[in-house]
Amino acid sequence: MESRRWSEVWGLHKASVAKRIAIMGSTGSIGTSTLEVVRALGDTYQVVGLAGKQRWRQLAEQCAAFRPQAVAVADQANAQSLAGLLNGATELLVGPTGLVELAAREDSDFVVAAIVGSAGLESTIAAVRAGKQVGLANKEALVVAGSIIVPLARQTGARLLPIDSEHSAIFQSLAAGRAEEVRRIYLTASGGPFRTWSADQMANATLADALRHPTWNMGQKITIDSATMMNKALEIIEACWLFDLAPDSIEVLVHPESIIHSMVEFHDGSIIAQLGAPDMKTPIQYALTYPDRVPGIARRLDFTTVRRLNFEPPDLDRFPALRMGYEVARLGGTAGAVFNGANEEAVEAFSQGRIPFGRIVELIRQVLDRHTIEQNCDLDRLLAADAWARQEVQRCLHG
Ligand code: NAD
Ligand code: MG
Repeated sequence: MESRRWSEVWGLHKASVAKRIAIMGSTGSIGTSTLEVVRALGDTYQVVGLAGKQRWRQLAEQCAAFRPQAVAVADQANAQSLAGLLNGATELLVGPTGLVELAAREDSDFVVAAIVGSAGLESTIAAVRAGKQVGLANKEALVVAGSIIVPLARQTGARLLPIDSEHSAIFQSLAAGRAEEVRRIYLTASGGPFRTWSADQMANATLADALRHPTWNMGQKITIDSATMMNKALEIIEACWLFDLAPDSIEVLVHPESIIHSMVEFHDGSIIAQLGAPDMKTPIQYALTYPDRVPGIARRLDFTTVRRLNFEPPDLDRFPALRMGYEVARLGGTAGAVFNGANEEAVEAFSQGRIPFGRIVELIRQVLDRHTIEQNCDLDRLLAADAWARQEVQRCLHG
């Protein structure tokens, strides 16, 4: 008998090979890791698009190395400088509309959504609307507009493949059973740099303290989100949208070693987990090569160096962001846009030294409390809620 994958036997997955890849946010942490993975995968994987905000020299270097058909730079001011460094082979697209155009171009099959924050929302939607396979790192897009993205993907046939390590783990573990057989999801969390700090110590933690993540090396915004545990709150909402889960079926479990990337418990009591070294190249590659598994360059787990795996419940009093994550997931409507917008603005204020660490989550709470949630919104309404939340944070800071 011809050998078949279990997933094919069950009809869960349709095979598809991603070949032509556009990377939104190619100058960032996920973007550069994606380029390393693509290079190592060899000739069947071709980079056709690159996009970033303002690091034009780095974009030019990436263009020289990967020879994409097009490159998009979000900041208009850097377009001339980048144009001067491109050879004729790569077309230059500029501004937010350039990003949207790049994400939807016909010359790509697969779009890696790796822009940080709601700045990535419109290009992510453009890729979904164009029916691409989308490797989703940009979790904020789902937090703000999951209510638009998920139904749109169903309509256009776009496939959302998670790059966030926990969601990649859940995606892989879910393949062991059927949706109705799932009892709960264990969403694991490292606990961040302040896992063992008291609330008083945390209140005035410095930027350097917040950036000292114990297990993952990531961009600045998500690293600060890990310190407040807003990252896990955003991931609860992300998981609800990606896997059609009720918030109450998701349990956050602190696991400081970041080796179990998440788990699924089925009704019969079996728990299926995905494990690996904490290296984003593993979930990035899995999204790109799905449903295949091929040798790659990600760090491997060596069990002889893993002395033990620890687990503890999260402390919702020291990390109130987590409780808010559940609340926002249940509220729906504009709540996600406000939650995310307030966080982005507060994290920016903390990064600039304008507010102490403890104030980030307080500000989000204040803004959420002032918001009247609207349901069944279109994209403009969600973007307006995002803008409103940012203004409210500024008002609190100046008022
Ligand atoms: P990063 O700050 O390292 O990179 C962000 C990228 O987005 C850069 O290329 C930057 O140029 C681009 N960008 C920022 N603002 C932009 C704008 N207005 N227009 C166009 N481009 C813009 O961030 P990162 O850590 O790579 O994270 C990217 C996304 O992936 C985030 O949503 C994050 O939550 C998610 N994620 C990251 C990791 C990780 O290990 N870094 C893990 C899981 C999920
Ligand atoms: Mg994650």
